[in-house]
Amino acid sequence: MLETGRDERSLYAAIGDLLLSKGVKKLIGIGSTFSRNADLIKIESTFYPNTASFLSDMQSTDFSEEIVLVKGARVFKFEEIVKKLQQKVHGTVFEVNLDSLSSNLNFYRSRLDHGTRIMVMVKAFAYGSGSYEVANLLQFHRVDYLAVAYADEGVALREHGVSLPVMVMNPSFSTFDKLFQYNLEPEIYSFKILREYLDFIKANDISSKIHLKLDTGMRRLGFEEKDLKDLVELLKNTTNIRVASVFTHLAGADEGVHDDFTQSQIRKFKSFTEHLKNDLGYDFLRHALNSAGIIRFPEAQMDMVRLGIGLYGIEAGGLLQDQLQPVGTLKTIISQIKEIKKGETVGYGRKGVAERDLRIGTIAIGYADGYDRRFSNGKGKVLVQDKLCPVIGNVCMDMCMIDITDTNAREGDEVIVFGRKPSLNDLSQVIGTIPYEILTSVGQRVKRVFYSE
Ligand SMILES: *Cc1c(COP(=O)(O)O)cnc(C)c1O
Repeated sequence: MLETGRDERSLYAAIGDLLLSKGVKKLIGIGSTFSRNADLIKIESTFYPNTASFLSDMQSTDFSEEIVLVKGARVFKFEEIVKKLQQKVHGTVFEVNLDSLSSNLNFYRSRLDHGTRIMVMVKAFAYGSGSYEVANLLQFHRVDYLAVAYADEGVALREHGVSLPVMVMNPSFSTFDKLFQYNLEPEIYSFKILREYLDFIKANDISSKIHLKLDTGMRRLGFEEKDLKDLVELLKNTTNIRVASVFTHLAGADEGVHDDFTQSQIRKFKSFTEHLKNDLGYDFLRHALNSAGIIRFPEAQMDMVRLGIGLYGIEAGGLLQDQLQPVGTLKTIISQIKEIKKGETVGYGRKGVAERDLRIGTIAIGYADGYDRRFSNGKGKVLVQDKLCPVIGNVCMDMCMIDITDTNAREGDEVIVFGRKPSLNDLSQVIGTIPYEILTSVGQRVKRVFYSE
């Protein structure tokens, strides 16, 4: 608003009209300019001369059951408001930095040839980072395709303004009508699902794009070399279905030891698609690379790549991790602090034993929020005031206890479970899993907060 160059009255009149027409229910305006133009705002509103005056009044403001958009120029320091809101909401939040996401997307784009399309995998709630919020940003950045695992995930995108083409990887007979209604394109991986889909298309006299999945070595879903003839037969006899793309998934693109195998997958894929193209009589998009593949096998990018974990800040191949920005930060707070004596025990099963007098903090995150129980008894460490503090005792369902003896932390202070430090890679190594699992395990009840400069 500071930089529009518009005349103040007409700018605020336009804001007033927008708020009304978009159905915004309530406005809190901060700054003297806003207050001066209060008469132009036609929805429920309150005004404050500056951020400090709002902060001191904030406790009395009721935000229950509301979605809050906080927006303002840097000088207003609205991050102070966000911090207070988060404490008000629930101790635990998952912050998603949309600028980091954009930066990671641009990094992968810079590795691609001009003209190679990008499909971004936003399955599983965009790897835990919020589905349509992420999808809308990707739409803004003009990626070419999105992919989700299930029809319902695609429907959620459509209902929140996403108009990009969307591929659904696990379609089922019962969701075909939804696919059609919401203009979602199924992945077809077997004869069973192909026949069912063909019947549906014919019965409803509609047409559709599909994406064919080939199994070249993953041994999960997909058609195989021997299926080519029957596949062509079925597809040639229908005019209502168009193959938009054909793809395969690499089983070991992230690890050098599998490079020969990966090359064999790529060879099989190229040969299959060449035959398919000739027999079908038309061309389609080809794609094989996941995030690790984009980095390690750029020569196999073909028409499109499928970006997943890399967007969320993890370089699966481990080669260029320092070129990516961490996207998600899982934060919680210290609910209570206790002084305990040497020899006392902490938590269920009395597994945490104080080897000396300790100051411990109970934090508002447990295994139901995605903080794996394998982080119990010192395995997990969280960041408090720049110090890594170990978990003491077993992780509980909604809480766990940490040793904060070496800090001067107070109740209500912020705790970082993962983010820049400790990183997702650190955490996954400690419990022998992969960053994908930790990221997608962040509980649904944990509020997502999206940041952008
Ligand atoms: C999830 C998925 C990807 C993305 O994999 P990343 O390792 O996250 O890049 C690509 N293709 C398919 C078929 C997938 O299911």
